[in-house]
Amino acid sequence: MSCFDPGQLTETIAAVSTPPGRGALGIIRLCGPDTLAILQRIFRPAGQRNQLTTHRMCFGVLVDPASGQTIDQVMAVYFAAPHSYTGEDMGEISHHGSPVLAAEILDLILQDRARLALPGEFTLRAFLNGKMDLAQAEAVRDLIDARTSYQARIAGKQLEGSVSRTIRPLKERLIGVITHLETTVEFAEDMPETESRAHLSAALADVARSLAALEDNFRLGHLLRQGASLVITGRPNVGKSSLFNRLLGEDRAIVTEISGTTRDVLREPANLFGIPLILMDTAGIRTSDDMVEKLGVERSYSALGQADLILHVMDATRHLEAEELDLIRSLPHDNLIVALNKQDLPPRTTTADTDGRLGDQTVVPVSALTGEGLDTLREAIRDRLIPPTFRPEMENGLITNLRQQQCIRQGHVQLQRAQAAMETGMSEEYSLYHLYRAVRSLDELTGQTTVEDILDRIFATFCIGK
Ligand code: GDP
Repeated sequence: MSCFDPGQLTETIAAVSTPPGRGALGIIRLCGPDTLAILQRIFRPAGQRNQLTTHRMCFGVLVDPASGQTIDQVMAVYFAAPHSYTGEDMGEISHHGSPVLAAEILDLILQDRARLALPGEFTLRAFLNGKMDLAQAEAVRDLIDARTSYQARIAGKQLEGSVSRTIRPLKERLIGVITHLETTVEFAEDMPETESRAHLSAALADVARSLAALEDNFRLGHLLRQGASLVITGRPNVGKSSLFNRLLGEDRAIVTEISGTTRDVLREPANLFGIPLILMDTAGIRTSDDMVEKLGVERSYSALGQADLILHVMDATRHLEAEELDLIRSLPHDNLIVALNKQDLPPRTTTADTDGRLGDQTVVPVSALTGEGLDTLREAIRDRLIPPTFRPEMENGLITNLRQQQCIRQGHVQLQRAQAAMETGMSEEYSLYHLYRAVRSLDELTGQTTVEDILDRIFATFCIGK
């Protein structure tokens, strides 16, 4: 069933908005034209001074009108349209947090004039009623799904409209250029053509630069949203599993003196300065006759291929061998950090040795046993994931999802075509054609021109009750 069915959008909907299971409270939400009538039928305010008026919490009991039985003591609130989350009449019932009660109350509401809300339908209605744009609606979902405080902060900014605020001035500049070109087409003989073309072309170049910057930041935004994968690699027994446990903050991987203990790739989510990480511990890389270990090594290589960042661990108590140097040099330099582990023991390899033979590669001395150097290692990982050119104020225009990035890219491509048409002296209509398409792409980002199937795809990923 599509949630973008105009007939369904006029119906009253209800859903349990709190997560399944027991809790102190549970919340049931209602939205639509029959909200007040339903609340009045099942809710009895306690005492004269407790009346169900808009935007005021009211204490009372829920009663099954058929049997007259009291179901629960609750707090109910009614929000008269248009001053509600969705812009329509809405109600919320806070009941004691038992799943049995939640089911009973919902059932009571659904026996009346309401139907069960589809996933994301409350937010879809808020979007369709102009309470928020599409980027903000997506931010609601991201905020609910956030696993780290940093993810929540970025989603919170997007919910406040940071993406739309970044896009709006760019769109206005494009519209300015369009207006100018349209006038040129109309009153061609009155315009000093070459001068205005240079001026317009410079304006387009400016907007193109801003779009390119947004595209660049997407890599970081996407990492923050999805989590970056950090693969720990190295030869057997160098301390990969010990570092994995240290970075994770718990003893997840088995640590032994026996080489080849880790056979499969272990994956665990971790949080580094608010950045979500997927930590992967891999089998030590060496040639082996053991079938299972061989498979483990193959999987290590496959994990390396997909890594956002690689942490290569070396054992400082061993001599630096040519074979290991070759292995490090074969890894992608930009995504690599080397940890020189076991600093608590007398070293045979120091950073002076690695500096001489690995060039400008980041090498961090650490001890997984004592924790020495771990803070520096965490900072080195963070600095690799967050580009040095990134400043905190850029968080405001951070694009985190692929749909938004594709809109920006499409806008950028169209803009470049418009620019090329202008610079090669083609008639204004060519530039205008591409400029209108660029504006349309930016509009799609915020949902000003959205087709139904896009809405269906987005809101289907929400939870019910939001
Ligand atoms: P992996 O095979 O690379 O995953 O290595 P492990 O984490 O299993 O560690 C191999 C051995 O080295 C174990 O006996 C660990 O206790 C030991 N080890 C790991 N890190 C350190 C360290 O920083 N200092 C010392 N002294 N021993 C370590």
